[in-house]
Amino acid sequence: MKNKIWLSSPHMGGNELKYIHEAFDANWVAPLGPNVDGFEKDLEKFLNGDIKVAALSAGTAALHLALIECGVEHGDEVICQSMTFSASANPIAYQGAVPVFIDSEEDTWNMCPVALQKAIEDRISKGKKPKAIIVVHLYGMPAKMDEISSIAAKYEIPLIEDAAEALGSEYKGKACGTFGSFGILSFNGNKIITTSGGGALVCRTQEDKNKAVFLSTQARDNAPHYQHSYIGYNYRMSNITAGIGRGQMEVLNDRVEARRNMHNFYVDLFKDIEGVEVFSEPSDEYYSNHWLSAITIDPVQTGKTREDLRLTFLEENIESRPLWKPMHLQPVFSGVPYYGEKVAENLFENGLCLPSGSNLTDDDRNRIAKVITDFFSK
Ligand SMILES: *Cc1c(COP(=O)(O)O)cnc(C)c1O
Repeated sequence: MKNKIWLSSPHMGGNELKYIHEAFDANWVAPLGPNVDGFEKDLEKFLNGDIKVAALSAGTAALHLALIECGVEHGDEVICQSMTFSASANPIAYQGAVPVFIDSEEDTWNMCPVALQKAIEDRISKGKKPKAIIVVHLYGMPAKMDEISSIAAKYEIPLIEDAAEALGSEYKGKACGTFGSFGILSFNGNKIITTSGGGALVCRTQEDKNKAVFLSTQARDNAPHYQHSYIGYNYRMSNITAGIGRGQMEVLNDRVEARRNMHNFYVDLFKDIEGVEVFSEPSDEYYSNHWLSAITIDPVQTGKTREDLRLTFLEENIESRPLWKPMHLQPVFSGVPYYGEKVAENLFENGLCLPSGSNLTDDDRNRIAKVITDFFSK
């Protein structure tokens, strides 16, 4: 059997162990220390905005704290993009709140501003003004942030940006994750950079960051004994994993470049194959890190389905994956409100994510190209 080609696998830069050794040498083996501070500084510098970053145990934890800081409580409603990973929506349920799902639009596959506006109007008319909006930059593609930000501002609803997949992406030259009241990042094993597991909350003010750090370290009041006035969480990032993060930040620009090259590889490969579209930036206002390269296959034009291609890849020990199944189609969220048409549903039917890692070799690319060329020439 040929070696496995993964969709997206960890890609170390080289200095990660150096930072971990420093942590061991100084005995900073705890959820605080110089690597946590250093990683936060690195992220703030990279995002290059008027923001503060809190390093946390996961992107999901960051999203949970963002909802708490936005005042989301039991029985509230929170608007969320339907086409996304479940971790975008689950923290809404952690708070005992109800998600309201929104369809995608065709250009970016992200939240449709028209459906968003309709949903807000309708929820308000039912006496349920949404407490927050969660927009996602899927596969690294920036959402239509001008439209979405202005709708959020018009109705005075805080915007939370799920930029878990979009570190290194930009919209009109501004980093994804720095548009909303809060942004969240993920460093899980398959993301563009990884700390093995981890996340971060991007905050607008030092005060918001302080609150996130307070809540993520069990909400201890300022007293010599353990005193608590709020429910706390154990969500802070460890100084060991932050060491991996510091090493990864040294190579982040290279990783973005390599992922974008993978996208160009697919654009080139599919340029003469009718009925297949490679997911691409709608204009030069959008700069995607192309965390995952994805295609849509028109079954009528090609006579083939994305499932046929997925199984063909599998036979060659190559991983590919259908696009995220929209949340409004998930059994766990059955019956929750949904606004939109069938854009996300159709994308799910016909879309496939292809191997996109920054560590793929020429040999890997040749294997991938052969599968695709053979598959579509039959
Ligand atoms: C990975 C991911 C998350 C969750 O991040 P974790 O660090 O795995 O908790 C949230 N949203 C999206 C869109 C993701 O891809």
